[in-house]
Amino acid sequence: MALKLAIVGRPNVGKSTLFNRLAGKKLAIVDDRPGVTRDRRFATGRLGDLDLELIDTAGFEDVSDESLEARMRTQTERAIDECDVALFVIDAREGVTPLDEVFAEILRKRDKPVVLAANKAEGKQGDAGTMEAFSLGLGEPVPISAEHGEGMADLYAAIAAVS
Ligand code: GDP
Ligand code: MG
Repeated sequence: MALKLAIVGRPNVGKSTLFNRLAGKKLAIVDDRPGVTRDRRFATGRLGDLDLELIDTAGFEDVSDESLEARMRTQTERAIDECDVALFVIDAREGVTPLDEVFAEILRKRDKPVVLAANKAEGKQGDAGTMEAFSLGLGEPVPISAEHGEGMADLYAAIAAVS
């Protein structure tokens, strides 16, 4: 049975890059119809021996009105409710931001296993941000680089450990 993995976090941390990497090829996207899944994208994927049903929370990057946070909250909560494991992504180069704290609070309030990934951690620039992410209270952050495919074995181990 496939593991439903929701990729959540604030805009620009690399969620879609990770989604595309885990999905392997863009062809794997099973439902990307505009208007139907504007805020979420779905694909099947694989990580190690785990079959994945991926949920990418997206579609709000261009929205710049005051309802932004409310929309992010709603779609994130929906994705968390649908998934088996929530993969919470932060940007290791930026460190923990106030918006990351908002997402962490949403995740802490819900009863789903969370894996915390500190993305953009290729090179040393991500080290401080990865350490900072311990403060989110969501366990040990896994340093990864979605763009370069680094840390995928550790990500696998962390997901397998909670699922
Ligand atoms: P999303 O808004 O969370 O879905 O983020 P995107 O996947 O669209 O990525 C936002 C930006 O971060 C893009 O310019 C990506 O190329 C970049 N990015 C994503 N993953 C990495 C990474 O592992 N390392 C670096 N340096 N940049 C990344
Ligand atoms: Mg995205």
